[in-house]
Amino acid sequence: SCRDVNRSTHSQLNASTESYHGKTKKREDYLEWPEYFMAVAFLSAQRSKDPSSQVGACIVNQENKIVGIGYNGMPNGCNDDLLPWSRSADDRLDTKYPYVCHAELNAIMNKNSADVKDCTMYVALFPCNECAKLIIQAGLKEVVYLSDKYHDTPEMTASRRLLSMAKIECRQFKPKRTEIVIDFSSINCSGMLNCATK
Ligand SMILES: [Zn+2]
Repeated sequence: SCRDVNRSTHSQLNASTESYHGKTKKREDYLEWPEYFMAVAFLSAQRSKDPSSQVGACIVNQENKIVGIGYNGMPNGCNDDLLPWSRSADDRLDTKYPYVCHAELNAIMNKNSADVKDCTMYVALFPCNECAKLIIQAGLKEVVYLSDKYHDTPEMTASRRLLSMAKIECRQFKPKRTEIVIDFSSINCSGMLNCATK
């Protein structure tokens, strides 16, 4: 909202203004690191063409720098208009499952650092067993997930077994807010003007 923009503008000015007498407090409702990284994962999921499931993943190093982002989709160079997107069919070859790359795989493969050793993966859904294998072999140390809605499937059970044996910490992210709105028009609100006329 416009009010939020006013406040962020204040804090930027205050930080560089010596004559500040302490009337305006810095923003308190800024995004904390975990919610920022989970939000990046959710934003990248919006790139997915999968009609039934949009999942994003964001890999972060120990300096809180993002080193990989991915979302679920068909492999590079494979025409996603020619491959099936169905969840069920008489023939499994007519479902998406044998073809689609999960967000975790893409985030690891898209890494822009030499490796992802000791990094943390933020991902919307608890990883399946195939992604657990990738997470382990890539040397990640922690998985932060939001939903565990497939908890009782064999894939997730196998995944928990592997991640636990490999001593990869898994924790569920409990968001403080249910949504984060990106409002492109907010940048044009009159925060600066209000501040200058204080
Ligand atoms: Zn997976």
